[in-house]
Amino acid sequence: MIPFLDLRQINAPYQEAIEEASLRVLRSGWYVLGQELKAFEEAFATYCEADFCVGVANGLDAIQLILQAYGFPDGSEILVPANTYIATVLPVSYLQLVPVLVEPDPATMLIDPARIEAHLTSRTKAILTTDLYGRSCDLEPIRALADKHGLKVITDAAQAHGARYQGRKVGGLADATAFSFYPTKNLGALGDAGAVTTSDPALAERITYLRNYGSRERYKNDYQGVNSRMDELQAAILNAKLPFLDRDNDRRRALAQRYLRELRVSELVLPPADAVHDDAWHLFVVRHPRRAELVKYLSQYGIQTQIHYPVPIHRQVAYTSLSHLRLPITEQIHEQVVSLPLHPVLTDADLTYIIDTINQFEAQP
Ligand SMILES: *Cc1c(COP(=O)(O)O)cnc(C)c1O
Repeated sequence: MIPFLDLRQINAPYQEAIEEASLRVLRSGWYVLGQELKAFEEAFATYCEADFCVGVANGLDAIQLILQAYGFPDGSEILVPANTYIATVLPVSYLQLVPVLVEPDPATMLIDPARIEAHLTSRTKAILTTDLYGRSCDLEPIRALADKHGLKVITDAAQAHGARYQGRKVGGLADATAFSFYPTKNLGALGDAGAVTTSDPALAERITYLRNYGSRERYKNDYQGVNSRMDELQAAILNAKLPFLDRDNDRRRALAQRYLRELRVSELVLPPADAVHDDAWHLFVVRHPRRAELVKYLSQYGIQTQIHYPVPIHRQVAYTSLSHLRLPITEQIHEQVVSLPLHPVLTDADLTYIIDTINQFEAQP
């Protein structure tokens, strides 16, 4: 059986480094907001080519703290991709802001810059994009629109650690970028963790207070903050793994390139190949008009797949308020996408087997 993902296998190359880091934290006697977090924040800011990084408890909080720190008034509209994970949108509605769903470009499945302007109103405050599957959004036209209309650009890069756009790193491009270090991500902790990167010193400072009860100085609270701190254990583990993120991403790219070159397509639709070396390839997402058949066939041959994602946000029970929306591109994507195994420890032999098996399916009449 080829599992879609095996976290034990993925962390095996880092076993010693992780054990060492964990023991160091245990013995230090300091478990929250200490040197490990400070070191990670500096290293990750540098990695992202951003001035600041603030570690938080998870990716959802990273998005929420960015929105909270900007202090948009209730009812402000935030443009979001219609095709994204629900965690992009939950913080928007949680903060009494209004998510405005924008259809994707059918080729990249990312927010379509050409569709943004039609959604702008006097209440629009920000464009929140998602670098879904590991590919940066097309930020140049988005930045131009944001500047023209005085909007913030926020990126959910929970799936795009190490991706680039026009030569620059994701994390240093938007006004603020949210990351998740959930165990399955390209850079994964052994539990929950997240971060915000930005080059805006005022925003970074405000999020630093907000994540710790809004406290600038112990027991003095300037804001009504939250408890969303990355603990020292997760920070130490991320410090141990960060130096190898590029190596892992290179392996993902090599595997993705083989998929793109060797998969025979008739009905199968592959992800765009134009940015193989820029994408972080968090997921390798193909589309097929007979998805259910393909998934069943692959599972009969011992190949596990996943669907990212089966139900669009506007069709979720949690978002009946959006159920009136007609988003045909997003809906078709959700009916057709399937993610193939792709992770840094997938072997060449397993990849060959997956490719051969899919090619036989495509060759069937
Ligand atoms: C994983 C993920 C999140 C949420 O991150 P958590 O750390 O699980 O809160 C948000 N957005 C996207 C696109 C994700 O993939």
